[in-house]
Amino acid sequence: MYIKFGSLKFHFMSIKSKIISGYSIALGVAFAGTSLGFAIGNYYQNKAQQEQQIASYENRLLSALQLDVLYNRPAKQLAPYLQDPEVFRKESSALLKRLQNIQELLAKHNNSGKPATLEDLQTFLEDYEVTVEEFKQRATTFQKTVQPLTQKLEGLETAQQLLINLVKSPEFVAFIEAPDLMGEFYQLVIQREIDAEQALNDAQFLRTQIIVFSFGLSGGVALILALYNSHAIAKPLQTVTNVAQLVTRDSNFNLQVPVQTNDEVGVLATSLNQLIGRVKELMTEKQAYIMQLEQAKETAHAANQAKSDFLANMSHELRTPLNGILGYAQILEHSETMSEEENKGIDIIKQCGLHLLKLINDILDLSKIEARKLDLLVKEFHFPSFLQGVAEICRIRAEQKGINFYYYPNQNLPTGIRADEKRLQQVLINLLSNGIKFTDIGSVTFTVTAQKLSDGHHLHFEVKDTGVGMTPEQQQKIFLPFEQVGDRTKKIEGTGLGLAISQKIVKLMDSQLEVRSELGKGSTFCFDLEVPEAREWAIVSRTVKQGTILGYQGKKYHVLVVDDRWENRSLVVSLLKVLGFEMSEAKNGKEALEKILVFLPDVVITDLMMPVMNGYEFLKYIRSSEKLKDVVAIASSASVFDSHQQEAIDAGADVFLPKPIQTDKLLQILQQYLDLEWVYEQKTTASAQVTEVRKSEEIVSPAMKVLQELLTLVEDGDIQGVVEVAEELLASDVAFTPFAQEILQLANSFQLKQLKTFIKAHIPHHKI
Ligand code: ADP
Repeated sequence: MYIKFGSLKFHFMSIKSKIISGYSIALGVAFAGTSLGFAIGNYYQNKAQQEQQIASYENRLLSALQLDVLYNRPAKQLAPYLQDPEVFRKESSALLKRLQNIQELLAKHNNSGKPATLEDLQTFLEDYEVTVEEFKQRATTFQKTVQPLTQKLEGLETAQQLLINLVKSPEFVAFIEAPDLMGEFYQLVIQREIDAEQALNDAQFLRTQIIVFSFGLSGGVALILALYNSHAIAKPLQTVTNVAQLVTRDSNFNLQVPVQTNDEVGVLATSLNQLIGRVKELMTEKQAYIMQLEQAKETAHAANQAKSDFLANMSHELRTPLNGILGYAQILEHSETMSEEENKGIDIIKQCGLHLLKLINDILDLSKIEARKLDLLVKEFHFPSFLQGVAEICRIRAEQKGINFYYYPNQNLPTGIRADEKRLQQVLINLLSNGIKFTDIGSVTFTVTAQKLSDGHHLHFEVKDTGVGMTPEQQQKIFLPFEQVGDRTKKIEGTGLGLAISQKIVKLMDSQLEVRSELGKGSTFCFDLEVPEAREWAIVSRTVKQGTILGYQGKKYHVLVVDDRWENRSLVVSLLKVLGFEMSEAKNGKEALEKILVFLPDVVITDLMMPVMNGYEFLKYIRSSEKLKDVVAIASSASVFDSHQQEAIDAGADVFLPKPIQTDKLLQILQQYLDLEWVYEQKTTASAQVTEVRKSEEIVSPAMKVLQELLTLVEDGDIQGVVEVAEELLASDVAFTPFAQEILQLANSFQLKQLKTFIKAHIPHHKI
């Protein structure tokens, strides 16, 4: 019961108290044991020492007595002195003196109150004191009697007789026999002395033993207490650790640590339980938060999808009428029957249409960037001619406005770099156009500097103008979409999207567009780029004399235009009719199918979104018909989404033509698929009009790098990538048109094997 209470009490103690009490007990045992050892040891040692002292005293006493007695033994020695009274008197007095000494020695011992340790010895000493006294009296009497006799010669005989009597007297015999007994006692005392010394040694040994034992005992006690303590501390601690491990390993937050003690481990267990509880709460909250987030993500995704769909439809809806407007503006622009006033009107229509087209394109660009659908198309290009091209475009605008334009390229510009040429051009033209737009007097300065790095170049682009400038507040806003600041008249010229798009593009290039400006003094826009060096850059000549196409050589081709909008149909019909094509129109797929059998076209240009029967169905139908399956089918739509283009190709279209229709693009397609030979009119020299006939067999292959890129794309099956590269080639130089068209045609009909063979054929020394 007591132990139970004790252990219960122990549970309530802190670890510190447990350890302190343990060590105190162990130290107490050690101290008590040592003290006891000293006390017992000392007691026995003292006792042994006393014993030894007594034995040695008795030893000395007996020695002294024995010596005196033995000295007096031959009392007969007095005989020779009987004749000399003087010597006799001296010698007999010495005898009496010695007896006196013995008597004093015995009296001193016997009267000291400290009797001898051996009873027999004490009795002997007391008896012997009497014996010595008796012998002393007898000897005194003898001296007194004999002394006068020694002076007379006749007294000698009597004296001798008296001496003989003395020697034979019982007193003398008793006195003289004592040394024999003393010898026996002496032996005993010596033995006792030896025993006492042994006892002393034993006492010292005992003391050492008790101390060693008590130290051992205290060590044992300390060990037991330490074991108990560590068990008492470690066991609950082990439980805490096990639970903590289980909780972290299995993420099981339903576990709790049993609280066994009230010490620090108990507090730790309680805290851990609270912590587990808190984590559980947080996990539940997190779960709920994740679910909310998931839902929000889904909603956002759905909203984004809705936005994409909306943009797809909107772009279609907006571009379709725009197609008509711009197309007709282009046609009417060259009409000779128009008055100057009307021509101005047409120009305004065209400008507004282009502005609208830019706005639509900008919005789409921005949404693409925001939806992270815009990837940089990095390729190698000739950097100085690229900058020169940009500068030239802007110089013309600046000159038209009557302001100065300065272009300062750094002397050590790299020749070739790797970057997205189209996007870089977009940013630079936007900054330069803004500079020109917002400067009425003064100049716009375009500076490009380059610094060589170990693996590329650090480029710094700067556009500085002496225009209207901006306040710091205005500068804060300009990179946001649709933000236009300052003068109202300038606003209508822009969309307010240019800088927002430019900033996003520059950010995609891992940099940042920056502005410094002062109201009324001008602005400076700049950014830095780090670009890798491109050694195998394609030297591209950017300006080619482009003649006007008058018609084509060979037989007359039939073209059927299918579109629900009359503006679109009439644009294509008007464009192609003058070139000598036989044209026909249909409002939808169904009508087209009715006409197709009578008209038997060589080419079909069809819209995709149409009532009654859409373009996809129509395409599928003609591809399934034995009679029509070889017709060249061009799908045309305002949709900018790649999926729609792919769907049209899947349905059977040979090629996709985006809306608003770009005339040169349409003509390129026709030339490629019908194998046409255009008849050109040279614009530049009116005097010597040379008709240039471009032969489709003249295939100029692009740079090695581009060929390799195309080959990799084909091997990866990335048809879209192949189409993009081919389209870039088309845009870069007309010299590449035959090559690019062949690539496009093979890519669009998914003839991967032929595509590969075609590209390889243009790679020098390539083993096919
Ligand atoms: P915008 O199509 O209107 O030019 P931007 O996004 O390119 O759209 O520019 C946003 C606004 O920033 C402009 O409307 C103009 O207020 C201001 N801004 C841009 N460039 C300059 C400049 N060089 N000087 C003064 N203001 C400028």
